[in-house]
Amino acid sequence: MKKITFPHMGYMNVPVKTFFESLGYEVLIPPKISRKTLDLGVKYGPEFACLPLKINLGNFIEAMEEGADVLIMGGGCGPCRFGYYAEVQQEILKDLGYEFEIFVIEPGILKNFNKIKNIFGNIPYSKIIPSAKLAWKKALVMDDIYKMVLENRAKEKETDIIDQIYNDFLEEIDNLMTIDAIEEINSKYSNKINQSIGEYKQGIEIRVGLVGEIYLVLEPYVNLDIEKKLGQLGVSVEKNLYITSWLKHFLHLSKEQEVIEKKAEKYLKNFVGGHGIDSIGNTVRYAEKGFDGVVQLAPFTCMPEIISESILPSVSKEENIPILSLFFDEHSGDAGLQTRLEAFVDLIVRRKQNKEGILYA
Ligand code: SF4
Repeated sequence: MKKITFPHMGYMNVPVKTFFESLGYEVLIPPKISRKTLDLGVKYGPEFACLPLKINLGNFIEAMEEGADVLIMGGGCGPCRFGYYAEVQQEILKDLGYEFEIFVIEPGILKNFNKIKNIFGNIPYSKIIPSAKLAWKKALVMDDIYKMVLENRAKEKETDIIDQIYNDFLEEIDNLMTIDAIEEINSKYSNKINQSIGEYKQGIEIRVGLVGEIYLVLEPYVNLDIEKKLGQLGVSVEKNLYITSWLKHFLHLSKEQEVIEKKAEKYLKNFVGGHGIDSIGNTVRYAEKGFDGVVQLAPFTCMPEIISESILPSVSKEENIPILSLFFDEHSGDAGLQTRLEAFVDLIVRRKQNKEGILYA
């Protein structure tokens, strides 16, 4: 039987696995991202490729070494490099001698259903649709619970209690195969999180919005667990980018993008690829919602986010919100990030107390 694999990106593996398993396929999740994954990607990927491409490549190699033979990958079109990822990865993997089929998910829902049929055979819609609904429900509930984690780490009663609850939730949801069961654990874990809330660690509420390139925003291995670090510093975090929001946009099922682009219009009118325009539009939205700061995350050399980074100082000044831009590559380390976050949070606290201070970091 075909063994399907796909790269890690946050907790995407859980709903995607559910989708294919409920269709009756075998799924082989790549080993958790590690230094080995990154080293493989760096060794075989082009030197100047974006960091996510290298890690995806490492994921594929590790999964194929364990027997995977069908690869699922996202695709797209310009102006940034994401549209080439799947093609470049395919060529590298073929040169390395691997034999596989690849299914590239493209914008547009029907095109993708037809591709699924080509690779996996003539599966009836009556089977695909319930599987898609189940996977979608899982993804939505995972987003809901994760939003609570992001908001409430800043005021957990005991150190790490929210992460312990969240890990239990991840383990439990992974095995559920009915919508009712998924709904039940949604309320069970929402209650558990609500019961674990105490006072703000900083003594005051600090709200920070996360913006940036999707892989960096969603994948804790590459962003060095920044959301957890911020939570431990007493910061409530909110972000707009989730797998579900990305999919809705990607499959043309949401109008949210129009709102984001409208907000960005004053500073950036054109699509620059990736989530460059979202970083601007969402920063404006966080400023309007009274957030205390924004953190931008991006891979080193990411063209759309470099454009946003060059505009964000003006946004920061005009919208009166502190912004910290962080670019990551394979050499980024915990200690440097921790120091920068502590300084940023300190700046926000002093600014809240004095109503003044530096804006753009
Ligand atoms: S958004 Fe940035 S990191 Fe992602 S493919 Fe485009 S250039 Fe690379």
